[in-house]
Amino acid sequence: MNLGYENRVAVVTGGTSGIGLATAKLLAAEGARVAVCGRDEARLDATRKTLGEAALVMRCDVLDAAEVAAFAVAVAAWGGACDLLVNNAGQGRVSTFGTTDDSAWREELELKFFSQIHVIRAFRPLLEKAAAPAIVGVNSLLAVQPEKHMVATSAARAGVQSLLKSLATEFAPRIRVNTILLGLVDSGQWQRRFAAREDQAMTRDEWYGRLAREKAIPLQRLGEPEEPARAILFLGSPAASYITGASLEVSGGVSRHI
Ligand code: NDP
Repeated sequence: MNLGYENRVAVVTGGTSGIGLATAKLLAAEGARVAVCGRDEARLDATRKTLGEAALVMRCDVLDAAEVAAFAVAVAAWGGACDLLVNNAGQGRVSTFGTTDDSAWREELELKFFSQIHVIRAFRPLLEKAAAPAIVGVNSLLAVQPEKHMVATSAARAGVQSLLKSLATEFAPRIRVNTILLGLVDSGQWQRRFAAREDQAMTRDEWYGRLAREKAIPLQRLGEPEEPARAILFLGSPAASYITGASLEVSGGVSRHI
């Protein structure tokens, strides 16, 4: 299927690692012009090498409204419009209600909400300039299936799901807004957790295998970053032209609802 990305401008926040990087690479392979942001300079440099000179790779903390506005100005000068905005930047927080203090709650709510709000506000004028613009929010299955060991992330993810559903209505019919709901995907976050594992004697296969069994993932493994990336490309493309306000679960079947 031709997804119609040739010469379209796609912006991926958090495009320097994991799912965001995999998405940027797939978009570039489909002929899109790709702009990505992140904070860590080493990851930004590595991404410049991976994506090549055709891509715009810029330092931008999505929690800093001025930096996000500057990123949008740079994309406008470089690409003129934004056909696809992938709001992906972020990370999860492992904590229970008992171990989450007020500052941690504020930090988590700020990350999940403002990584959407700042970016959508700054890029909306550029989306309006595109022929068939779309936003894809990278969200978590925790939004609809909360876990007590990730209480703040779960609550924040539910709020983001509500926010993006509202925007699908407010921005219609001009801009489509959809989300993907992730289970466990082997990205930078999980690689860092593996590196910090309690039992350093455990091999990668043993540790990931145990994780998949503990989480009772029907497909018996974590996802690879390219797997959600393919779902993002579909939802963001003209091939999904009649889909807005929807969410696509990419979890290996781990949800419990119908
Ligand atoms: P990675 O850690 O591999 O990638 C996260 C990316 O986001 C990096 O490029 C990171 O770059 C960037 N980032 C983080 N915070 C900011 C910020 N404030 N401003 C700009 N960029 C930022 O993780 P994943 O690929 O797993 O994560 C992608 C998204 O998927 C996240 O929102 C995550 O919460 C979500 N998710 C992932 C799941 C999984 O199992 N992998 C499950 C559920 C949700 P840098 O740190 O250099 O800024």
